[in-house]
Amino acid sequence: MRIGIFGGTFDPPHNGHLALARCSVKELRLNRLYIVPAKISPHKLEGRPTSGRHRINMLQKMVRGKLQKKCWISRLELERAGPSYTMRTLAYFRKQHPRAELYFVMGSDGLKFFPQWKNPDKIIALSWLAVGRRDDAARLPRAIPRGRVHWLKAQMPKVSATAIREAFAAKRSLDRSFLPGSVQDYIDRHHLYANQK
Ligand code: ATP
Repeated sequence: MRIGIFGGTFDPPHNGHLALARCSVKELRLNRLYIVPAKISPHKLEGRPTSGRHRINMLQKMVRGKLQKKCWISRLELERAGPSYTMRTLAYFRKQHPRAELYFVMGSDGLKFFPQWKNPDKIIALSWLAVGRRDDAARLPRAIPRGRVHWLKAQMPKVSATAIREAFAAKRSLDRSFLPGSVQDYIDRHHLYANQK
């Protein structure tokens, strides 16, 4: 059994997340990919994310078609108190799937600060890091053993949730390649991101 765990804020979920989900399922031949939105990311403590309910609804709109059969959207971190530490999440899934190969799916921008995450050694002991290249400068910090990293082959699209939130707040039209249409409709209908600085 091969299990992927894809954590993030997903505020909002976008085509970069979709590409990473699709290529990890395909390239790693995952039996299941858990998408786990964080309640409060330990790396983004300064701002409150959009409610978990809206982010789950948007994720459900993003994950459609073939991918839907493999993806489970998990409320684990949303229902747990305090910041969402990856180590605790992985330990939970390890208990659920004691014999599975676990892959923690992430974009390459996360590598730089990975050594400062809580218990990076334990994370690496519990799972492989499956990394999608977000830019050409993707480098592995020395503290992360090469043997625990699986570089995904697909090139990731240049889109970020920050750019999307800024565009909505400034009422700028959004590049069509940034978001699935169904997520864009959801954001419009619920007036999300309209009043942000
Ligand atoms: P923000 O702009 O608010 O920091 P983000 O777009 O990076 O958000 P997150 O929810 O923080 O999105 O990311 C969750 C995970 O998805 C992280 O591992 C991140 O590296 C990865 N990711 C985000 N955008 C992309 C992308 N365009 N390509 C590949 N991976 C991505």
